[in-house]
Amino acid sequence: MTTPPFAPVRPVDLEVMSEQLGRPVRDVVGIAARCVCGNPTVVSTAPRLADGSPFPTFYYLTHPGATIAMSQLEAEGVMAEFTTMLAEDEDLAERYRGAHEAFLADRAQFGAVPEIEGISSGGMPTRVKCLHAVAAHALAAGPGVNPFGDLALERASWSPDRCVCADPGRAA
Ligand SMILES: [Zn+2]
Repeated sequence: MTTPPFAPVRPVDLEVMSEQLGRPVRDVVGIAARCVCGNPTVVSTAPRLADGSPFPTFYYLTHPGATIAMSQLEAEGVMAEFTTMLAEDEDLAERYRGAHEAFLADRAQFGAVPEIEGISSGGMPTRVKCLHAVAAHALAAGPGVNPFGDLALERASWSPDRCVCADPGRAA
């Protein structure tokens, strides 16, 4: 778990992430989380890309095992369940607003981008729209920051503590 300031990005990390995503990674500002083996699991990207476009998704899940696991939970209807929890539990809603603020503060360290001001990721703070996004934030920030990211990781068949990098489908 790593929030800014980040250690310098190593060329090998860029290679591994490009392989994980099947496309070249760009505008990387840090590795926000890693597998127990050391491979990146979450990439942090500049809020304004080199081509000038705004990029709100500061924490992005790169590990195929993790993305498969989150897609599985989404297919099982977990987002609807979380959305109901968000509506019914004021304490949880308050913590989710805190996660939104923490996310924005992390990203702000890499520059203000007016087009995405106040816009975080994954539906925060009022909706749970993408488990990949909230899980990526939770992996970066560590437990206790993003409640729905924490819950998604608890439910997931994948974990950063058990390396499946050689065969990501095995976690599923
Ligand atoms: Zn690994």
